[in-house]
Amino acid sequence: METDTIAAIATAMGEAGISVIRVSGPEAVPIVNRIYKGKKSLTEVPTHTIHYGYIVNPQTEERIDEVLVTVMRAPRTFTREDVVEINCHGGMVPVQSTLEAVLSAGARLAEPGEFTKRAFLNGRIDLSQAEAVIDLIRAKTDRAAKVAMNQHQGRLSRLIRQLRNEIVETLAHLAVNVDYPEYDAEELTGRFLRERCEGIEKEINRLLQTARQGKIYREGIATAIIGRPNVGKSSLMNTLSQENKAIVTEIPGTTRDVIEEYVNVRGIPLRLLDTAGIRETEDIVERIGVERSRRALEEADLVLLVLNYAEPLSEEDRRLISLAECHTAVIIVNKVDLPGQLDLEEVRSLIGDKPLITTSLKEERGIEQLEEAIANLFLLGKVETAEGTYVSNARHIDLLSKAKNSIREVIQGIDTGMPLDMVEIDLKNAWQFLGEVIGEAVAEDLIDQIFSQFCLGK
Ligand code: GDP
Ligand code: ZN
Repeated sequence: METDTIAAIATAMGEAGISVIRVSGPEAVPIVNRIYKGKKSLTEVPTHTIHYGYIVNPQTEERIDEVLVTVMRAPRTFTREDVVEINCHGGMVPVQSTLEAVLSAGARLAEPGEFTKRAFLNGRIDLSQAEAVIDLIRAKTDRAAKVAMNQHQGRLSRLIRQLRNEIVETLAHLAVNVDYPEYDAEELTGRFLRERCEGIEKEINRLLQTARQGKIYREGIATAIIGRPNVGKSSLMNTLSQENKAIVTEIPGTTRDVIEEYVNVRGIPLRLLDTAGIRETEDIVERIGVERSRRALEEADLVLLVLNYAEPLSEEDRRLISLAECHTAVIIVNKVDLPGQLDLEEVRSLIGDKPLITTSLKEERGIEQLEEAIANLFLLGKVETAEGTYVSNARHIDLLSKAKNSIREVIQGIDTGMPLDMVEIDLKNAWQFLGEVIGEAVAEDLIDQIFSQFCLGK
């Protein structure tokens, strides 16, 4: 059990406005009190109250920052430990100095994810809820935030618990027959078991179906804009970014630490691939050739192929169309404000059932239709469940697939007349895999691995 007191900056680094330093642990209140000067001693104030004052250097009494301090005593706190939050004025210098003061007064700098880890270890949230906090931090759009929020509120956990209960009930029925074979109800049990397992499999499948969409909302749709030089690729990028507030995110704690550009099209986050390339070199196809765009395409979930209405279809256009063939793609015929040279019927005959949208990016025409086409591609056949529960985490998907396979084994075992005590093993495995989703029966190192993905201060 960890019982020391930890501290970290809980708000994004370098952001303007207010910054929050969070301190959690048995000594949180006395530690902050050592460097706080206000009307009252923090050790005497009631829980869940806010106090105005100064953070001072305890040796020199010199003021470091003017602050609001929130005192929250266990157990009604994020970590279920005593928590103190210091609202600083922001600006890197006072925030860092305040954090240093807290550390020199006796707190330890928190590891990434350590606050959430404590909330988990102290039983306030389960593992899938903790993971949802990671997703929430990284959520790119309102919709992604909502998916993460639902999970955070325990919807996925509740569904998993229901499934596990069903399995336990089924196991109980089985146990009666395994332990008292004189009942000789094997055949009846087999049929009952099969029905139950099919029901469970169906539920797991439903959860797995939501995975694809969950992934889209979480990670964004990897989108490649391709086309010959001068057709309007940069213009398209700019239009999408302006119409749909471009979100530039820095993903902390990942190995890549890249800055990615997201645009939000009707609630669907597009992650624009190689956007730097498009911007800097102006002309991807010309400079790096079809070979490179083929590689960019491999990574893409969505291809936006731009053609020029003012020029006849060229060999290169045809090559690009055939490149896009096996991808989810929208064909955009741009510059329709100019006299037409492009044979639209010919284009239609080449692109099969891919949507074709005509635009004039210059006159801002066709943009609504383009956005609608993009949204439709990803929302058609949508698997959004009534409760809106998405499984969007690779670890969950993996475990659910394993649970599903175990259930399959049970059904096959029954069909091939396997002894019931063998079948029981697979059923127990399914129960175990589902348990791992919500952190029951999880190995210690896995827990560490999950929580190390957090940013500092969460
Ligand atoms: P890229 O080379 O494919 O990135 O093309 P750009 O976006 O840089 O556009 C090339 C040129 O075409 C620029 O001068 C744009 O202003 C112009 N352009 C882009 N879209 C349109 C359009 O819809 N109509 C007309 N007339 N010009 C356009
Ligand atoms: Zn360009």
